[in-house]
Amino acid sequence: MPHIVNKRNENRVKLYRKVRFTSSWGTILTFLILSLIFSLMTIFLMGFIFQYIFESKFAGGLRRLEYIAELYDSCGDSESFDDYISSLNEDFFIKDDSGKVIFSHGDITCGSEGTIVFLADGDETYRVYQDTENGLLYPTKKGRISFDLGSVLDFCSEVRANTDDDILFPIWVDIRGDEDSENTLVGKAYLTLNKRDSILILELTLGVILVSILIFFIMLVHMISSMISYYRVVRLFYSDPVTLGHNWIWYVRYGDEKLQSFISRKNSYAVVNLVFVNYRNYCLCHSISEGDSILANMDKLLSGKIRKTELCAHASRAEFALLLNYDDEAALKTRLEDIVRSLKSMDTEHNFEFRVGVDLVPVVQNDSGKFIRRKGCSIEKAYIDACSAVGRLEEKEELGIRFFDNALLEEKKWEDTVNERQNAALKNEEFKVYYQPKYDPNTGRMRGAEALIRWITPENELISPVRFIPIFEKNGFITQIDHFMLRHVSTDQKRWLDEGYDCVPVSVNVSRAHFSENDLAEQIRDIVDEAGCPHDLIEIELTESAFFDDKTAMIDTIRKLKEYGFAVSMDDFGSGYSSLNSLKDMPLDVLKLDAEFFRGDGEGERGKKVVSEAIKLAKILEMRTVAEGVEEKEQVDFLAELGCDMIQGFFFAKPMEKGEYEKRMTRQPEGTDENNE
Ligand code: C2E
Ligand code: MG
Ligand code: MG
Repeated sequence: MPHIVNKRNENRVKLYRKVRFTSSWGTILTFLILSLIFSLMTIFLMGFIFQYIFESKFAGGLRRLEYIAELYDSCGDSESFDDYISSLNEDFFIKDDSGKVIFSHGDITCGSEGTIVFLADGDETYRVYQDTENGLLYPTKKGRISFDLGSVLDFCSEVRANTDDDILFPIWVDIRGDEDSENTLVGKAYLTLNKRDSILILELTLGVILVSILIFFIMLVHMISSMISYYRVVRLFYSDPVTLGHNWIWYVRYGDEKLQSFISRKNSYAVVNLVFVNYRNYCLCHSISEGDSILANMDKLLSGKIRKTELCAHASRAEFALLLNYDDEAALKTRLEDIVRSLKSMDTEHNFEFRVGVDLVPVVQNDSGKFIRRKGCSIEKAYIDACSAVGRLEEKEELGIRFFDNALLEEKKWEDTVNERQNAALKNEEFKVYYQPKYDPNTGRMRGAEALIRWITPENELISPVRFIPIFEKNGFITQIDHFMLRHVSTDQKRWLDEGYDCVPVSVNVSRAHFSENDLAEQIRDIVDEAGCPHDLIEIELTESAFFDDKTAMIDTIRKLKEYGFAVSMDDFGSGYSSLNSLKDMPLDVLKLDAEFFRGDGEGERGKKVVSEAIKLAKILEMRTVAEGVEEKEQVDFLAELGCDMIQGFFFAKPMEKGEYEKRMTRQPEGTDENNE
């Protein structure tokens, strides 16, 4: 089975989404926050510096006005004061407590709205007014002197062009006389900027602007480069190392997004599993890297065959996952056939073969006219269905395109039912042990039996093991079942022995799934010992296909089982590919010839020769032989002639309940089974 829903994959996608979210938004947010903090700091610093420079430059003008105010207070009358100040080139006026102007000198261009301002070092407050003629500086309501930068710079450059003297910015300030004075002097003070000041301000402004631009630029470059490297990581995360196209994680992510997206009749999807059958052989004949370059070419070709709204990814070794739009099943099939034809023509020197499994995820209209999709549908589940469809082709060794249809759906439902019910069934003793006796074809005496499981549901339905054993093998429940069978058979044998029955060895099937366990032989020994059953009454059947898994582990387990006194048999001999080699290495006691030898086409002269040689071979290797699935009298005679040790087949007996089997055991000494006559 190619791909299964994988918790690790899910976790990887979750982790990736987390990284994606924190990485892209994190970078942008950091950039924005740093930009904001930096801009605020720059504005604050610039404001502070300018304020300081401007206000400290007022100091001279303020002192002059304070001096005039003191002079006015000390003169006492306006005439002598007038004499003193007539030579001074100052603009000011003096007002009394009621606001009436009692003295004025020069041009009075004082603005009417004044504001209290902390000047210079902030120790003293003054009421400040804008000069109506030259209003470049003005007091703000917040108690600061502000200026319009553009106008100030224009003014400076204009004045500078004409003169090398200091630049004077006028602003009106009121100054109270001494404490008992009732008058206030309001005069024009000048903020005096000389050449050095203006150069300093200009340099400072330019410096701050340049540094800001530089820092902003560095941050921008950093943000862009981290975004670029982030997108490179994303590309890497979603790219397939073999084809350099998209990988399975990409397929799951965008496939699910498409299946969960807005549903309309237009987005009926077909989830496709495409298998390159010859990949393994091609790699064996050429090399893995050449095989991989075929996969890369396939990916290119497939990507070129799909539309913008569709997906294509390399899912696993020789498999591709597609998500195609479709309106009509027949048209989809034609399209897939066309894709397969193009893939085949990729390499005309080899006869490439493909298997395609399809699961349709259609959009249908419900009773209220709403467009809906299959409930609980996910891309991974649909892909598993597509794989099951391919699996069916594999079973029959067919090529072509197979849709996940009702028959497969029923199978899947059954598998779900088995998964759901297996534990309860074991607990409620729904599994029963049946015994099928094995007979000596010459004497007709029962010489052994095989324990076979049956599932009898509460509804009294008898379910054959072929319907549930493969599911247990897939989901791992088989280990519990095999232990249950072994325990049950050992207990039965012990009881029969105690009750004086003439016990024969009973074989128990042990699934290949157990062979990953190092202590399998010990487990079997312990279960049998717990029941108190002698080891020579238990035989262990290992199915032929298991001999191809881990040979060393298998030989090791067989040796141990034999050491403990159990007989070990190879079940279904002849049903697999090549078991002769295994026979050479495995120290087995019994060879069970597969039922296929005695059915249909296998019979006839050639079939007989094969059986005869197999029995001879077993004898040479000092193994006993059991023929399975024997139903005809002629077969029994033939096997007896060849010296086959035992026959297990419907001719003698079908698998039967424990009670029935007990009856056969007690009848042993008297003679043979009635079927044998
Ligand atoms: P198997 O171990 O090769 O068992 C022999 C099968 O052949 C049994 O099918 C038996 O009923 C059937 N058989 C015997 N003689 C004849 C005959 O003359 N004609 C026909 N048509 N069939 C005959 P069953 O009981 O349906 O079991 C099928 C398979 O399920 C078994 O094949 C074995 O692989 C598996 N199985 C059964 N019980 C267990 C178990 O407890 N544990 C494990 N791991 N597998 C089991
Ligand atoms: Mg068997
Ligand atoms: Mg068998």
